[in-house]
Amino acid sequence: MQLSDYIRDIQDFPKQGILFKDITPLLLSTKATHLAVDELYKKIEGKKIDVVVGIESRGFFFGTLLAQKLTCGFVPVRKPNKLPAETTSQIYALEYGEDKLEIHTDAIKKGDKVLIHDDVLATGGTAEAVCKLVEKLGGEVVQCNFLMELSFLSGREKLKNHEVKAVITY
Ligand code: 5GP
Repeated sequence: MQLSDYIRDIQDFPKQGILFKDITPLLLSTKATHLAVDELYKKIEGKKIDVVVGIESRGFFFGTLLAQKLTCGFVPVRKPNKLPAETTSQIYALEYGEDKLEIHTDAIKKGDKVLIHDDVLATGGTAEAVCKLVEKLGGEVVQCNFLMELSFLSGREKLKNHEVKAVITY
């Protein structure tokens, strides 16, 4: 079974000219979902992880499953004004303008070994902002872990101070 067979290309989503990698067919298959979690887990190569940080919103699917497999906690990073308790935030640049991500301030303890997970690494701006959030709280980013990497967008360059792993590379 090839995981890439369960990723669907959607032309011109969310904007004209973008070829969007859709993971919803993968989520529909229990076999493919199991395989995806196993492959993501293998990329961690036995490193000690205290907490998995998943990025809204598609990073929540495999982030929580991965945390279960690692028997550690899961922390969501969300868009502004979604988290109920005290938050720490990070602004990051978009193609046009900027956006903000938030994390619960008490979710990461000083010295925590953190795995950051998202479904896709594209330009790297989102994951870079999440690395900064984790580091602001005193966490150590052990790995940035993705299901897919769109290598032609060079996201790794923004994350060059961190280990980056992806299961499928386009
Ligand atoms: P970046 O900040 O690396 O440019 O974009 C990464 C973020 O955008 C991730 O949170 C990811 O979910 C989303 N993203 C960008 N392109 C795609 C895509 O083709 N498919 C999916 N599923 N998500 C994408």
